[in-house]
Amino acid sequence: MADIENVLLLAGDALLYFVALATLLRARDRIGLGPFFCALGVLHFLETYLASIFYVTLPLGIVASPGSTVLFTGKLMLLLLLYIREDAVVVRQPIYGLLFGNVLVFALGFILRHHNVLPLAAGRSADFAFLDEMGGLMVWGTAILFLDCIIIILFYERTRAWFGGHVFARLLVSSAAVLTFDQVAFFTGLHFLTGAGLPVLIGGWIAKMGAVALYSILGTLYLTRWDRPLGRRAAPRIRDVFDTLTYRERYENLLARTGCDALTGTLDRHSLEAYGRRAVDGAAEAGRPLSLLLIDLDHFKEFNDRYGHAAGDRMLKQVAHAIMTTTRLSDFTYRFGGEEFVVIADGLGADDGVELAERVRAGVAAARDPAGGQITVSIGVASCGRDAMGYDELFEVADRRLYEAKQGGRNRVVGRPSA
Ligand code: GH3
Ligand code: MG
Ligand code: MG
Repeated sequence: MADIENVLLLAGDALLYFVALATLLRARDRIGLGPFFCALGVLHFLETYLASIFYVTLPLGIVASPGSTVLFTGKLMLLLLLYIREDAVVVRQPIYGLLFGNVLVFALGFILRHHNVLPLAAGRSADFAFLDEMGGLMVWGTAILFLDCIIIILFYERTRAWFGGHVFARLLVSSAAVLTFDQVAFFTGLHFLTGAGLPVLIGGWIAKMGAVALYSILGTLYLTRWDRPLGRRAAPRIRDVFDTLTYRERYENLLARTGCDALTGTLDRHSLEAYGRRAVDGAAEAGRPLSLLLIDLDHFKEFNDRYGHAAGDRMLKQVAHAIMTTTRLSDFTYRFGGEEFVVIADGLGADDGVELAERVRAGVAAARDPAGGQITVSIGVASCGRDAMGYDELFEVADRRLYEAKQGGRNRVVGRPSA
């Protein structure tokens, strides 16, 4: 009976934890992500504290800690949701922040113990052995969390091929796999620090799988019912996600790459993620106009089929050249996908943005490749302030308008609702 009560209490813990943090996540457009990150960090302390000394009994003789069952599993799920709604550039921030903070806790512990301490009544004093144990566990826990987060996100991207749009299946499989790995890794640390035995490993795993099931349901509800609808986002390359999560793209950009696309000489998608986003946020903050042009070649597949892939590549170069020579020096051109380009025109409002897009369209239409091939482009334009304030929203609006331009017959610009 008491065991059943514990199961219900755990479900209650999970529900409260998830709903409270998901509310902060949902409100990110209005209040920013700071509150969500800080709350996650504060709860991390409780999580480790509970995981080191607070265990409850469940049916079938299972022993589990609410710290790792509810709080840790929940945190991983929330970070995965954050990745799905935002991207790798955003989710890597709390991952590194938590790791850094925990190493700092550990380091401060070494200095703190050398203070001359004021004796307290009733013989109370700081338990440094416990703080060391907690600190060790926190560093170990976040080091695993760091790996877990990277693995769960890469796994989630991988499951796209298996389950397509079935969000629940993707959340369930990726989190179950990662938490199995996690349970073994965390238990190893716990075993050496506190001497925890095998029942803790098995019991903890079963309890975590229960939490995984519950959180996958909650996560699915969050993604499909609660947050704004998921936009059409092209599947990222897993390699790119990994590079972003590990800050490798910065490193590579610094060392070898210039952030340029090798074929066309425009800036590449990495640069768009880093600088385009920053430009949009900066403009929104300063109340400055900014327009985003999303450009897609018309019937490019047919062009490739007719003239061959090499001619297609030459045409792409030509289009990029036409875009860069028709835009202003201060505008940035990025190759977003195979035959899709993005222009970020800082300082241009909605009307000027459409005018610029019209110039680009005409410039491309006038260009010919040496073989006499010709191509046109369709362009969706979205403007900061008028259409959206954030980068993702702006992109979604431009994407919708590009689709309208295609529907409307191609070789055209759509810059505001055609209704
Ligand atoms: P739509 O007008 O609807 O855009 O028709 P589309 O044929 O252009 O359709 P879509 O945008 O889906 O086509 C993408 C095609 O672009 C598929 C592929 O053949 C071609 N493509 C993508 N990247 C490259 C590239 O790097 N080089 C060449 N030559 N072709 C590419
Ligand atoms: Mg395309
Ligand atoms: Mg196309």
